[in-house]
Amino acid sequence: MVTSIIDGKDYASRLRGKLKSAINDLKDKYKITPGLAVVLVGNDPASEIYVRNKGIQTKEAGMNSFEYRLPESTSEDDLLAKVEKLNSDKSVNGILVQFPVPKHMEQQKIIERILPSKDVDGLHPVNSGYLASGLKGLVPCTPQGASLLIKDTLPSLSGLHAVIVGRSNLVGKPIAQLLLRENCTVTICHSRTKNLKEVCLSADILVAAVGIPEMVKGDWVKDGAVVIDVGINRLPAPEKGEGKTKLVGDVDFVEAGKKSSAITPVPGGVGPMTIACLLLNTLAATCSQNNIDFSDFEL
Ligand code: NDP
Repeated sequence: MVTSIIDGKDYASRLRGKLKSAINDLKDKYKITPGLAVVLVGNDPASEIYVRNKGIQTKEAGMNSFEYRLPESTSEDDLLAKVEKLNSDKSVNGILVQFPVPKHMEQQKIIERILPSKDVDGLHPVNSGYLASGLKGLVPCTPQGASLLIKDTLPSLSGLHAVIVGRSNLVGKPIAQLLLRENCTVTICHSRTKNLKEVCLSADILVAAVGIPEMVKGDWVKDGAVVIDVGINRLPAPEKGEGKTKLVGDVDFVEAGKKSSAITPVPGGVGPMTIACLLLNTLAATCSQNNIDFSDFEL
């Protein structure tokens, strides 16, 4: 089977282009500029890079980007007070607190303090409830990106068997809900699943969101399946030089690619979709807060 490589970088770049022109239209027609606030507590190097990239892409799309960098020693109460302030700030349409937060803070408490209408990460229980009920709401960015790539790859998802390995609130569960919405038959697997290889072998669409490098092997993949690798794992790469690292996914890309009809690479697959979908959510939130029909925009 000759597999095709699903180019998330290209899809994300096209989506950002469409968002930019939608935001231009919004400015012309309604005199509104969407605003995204990102709060970073501490100096985690990976989070620093994410936040910087989010800021750059937010501005490139024509939105206002507000960045707040708080010291590691910030108390949970002070962070919650910051969130409250952003909740009531009319120029802020979307709020994202970069996770992980320092250990002395409770992540769920912070998620639940963000107004559901500004929760562009889609993690508030109100938004996960909407998603589980098949209602409109803000959907977590990475699952949304994965679902867009699957829909772009397959002409129809109806009746296909989707197997999701991973059941986190951030990735696994929302992907399952999105594929259920597309009329897939969905199986969710996790660390206690029995016969995982056999379950994966029955998948028309196999999604890996585990966090274990190359766990999904080539002989777990049915001939012709579409394989979506959400995993991002950084491993040492001495072959590239001393102290160098490389990114690998949760799927053995080379072996799985011999069986699949289409597969996402790491990097360059699902990863680039996350920020593009964050911008999409910020536009959707802005429209909903201003009673503007989001479907007016061609995205
Ligand atoms: P979590 O650690 O929150 O969840 C991992 C899931 O995998 C859990 O449901 C766990 O099961 C399951 N799991 C662990 N070990 C096994 C096993 N041996 N067999 C079957 N299932 C197993 O991770 P996330 O969902 O947050 O992230 C998953 C991956 O996606 C990571 O590699 C992460 O880096 C990546 N990611 C990528 C993003 C992107 O922008 N592209 C964004 C977010 C995440 P159980 O529930 O039973 O413990």
